[in-house]
Amino acid sequence: MSRIVYVNAEFVPEAEARVSVFDRGFLMADGVYEVTSVLGGKLIDFAGHVARLERSLKELDMAMPMSAEALLAVHRELVARNEVIDGSVYLQITRGSSGDRDFVFPDPGVTPQTVVMFTQSKLGMAETPLARTGIRVISIDDIRWHRRDIKTVQLLYPSMGKMMAKAAGCDDAWLVEDGMVTEGTSNNAYIVRGNTIITRQLGNDILHGITRAAVLRFAREAQMTVEERPFTIAEAQAADEAFITSASMFVMPVVEIDGAKVGTGKPGALTARLREIYLDESRKAAI
Ligand code: PMP
Repeated sequence: MSRIVYVNAEFVPEAEARVSVFDRGFLMADGVYEVTSVLGGKLIDFAGHVARLERSLKELDMAMPMSAEALLAVHRELVARNEVIDGSVYLQITRGSSGDRDFVFPDPGVTPQTVVMFTQSKLGMAETPLARTGIRVISIDDIRWHRRDIKTVQLLYPSMGKMMAKAAGCDDAWLVEDGMVTEGTSNNAYIVRGNTIITRQLGNDILHGITRAAVLRFAREAQMTVEERPFTIAEAQAADEAFITSASMFVMPVVEIDGAKVGTGKPGALTARLREIYLDESRKAAI
């Protein structure tokens, strides 16, 4: 089905959408993005995604192109026009095109940002059978830049990481720096020991996941203990359970790390409970 996408204040069929070849997002990965999930036609954690967008833009000296209310209206219009029931809305803002290639940032007063949004439909994504089997991950070196807290469109290494995982017959990769897991290629990483959830603390080393924030809040409310600290692959392999979180995977069990089974090799009970709580609460709060 041909989608209606949003490009610089216009809703157009995807085949008619145009961005300049000089766009800095294309030439320099000079842009940020957000992905907001849609369940039952409603947006999940929208306020969190907008807050992180504002932060990413600020860190790169870019302005918010429109108010949070206007962004919400565009998200909703795209969901409605494309009849999305379950899926996501992708949003990307770049520093625009000055009409040439130049390392120097263009004057924002002269060069408008490029704002692109589109939907992806994935009916029934919250009921994916993967959640019942769990995923298998490999570990790879984390060679990304050191501002991973900014959600930029520089996704080459995460893409390569997913290809390395695929080549190894696995689903995804966890990134390791100085012997410690930072996060997954496109998700935050967790291990569980007893009633305790362990995940790396926030900082410049990882993306501040919106799903992470919600899941940790629900975990504490459910009397689980949360420890925010780094862990090794060996500790993860010896843990009772492991999982990842992201806007599109929600809470997804990890059952194998570098060929070693985690716990029983089946999704853990705490992980399953957290996934259920997260989905229930998110659906209730969806807008
Ligand atoms: N870490 C990285 C590197 C990511 O790309 C993502 C997803 N974009 C996440 C974590 C999870 O963030 P969120 O829960 O906001 O989707």
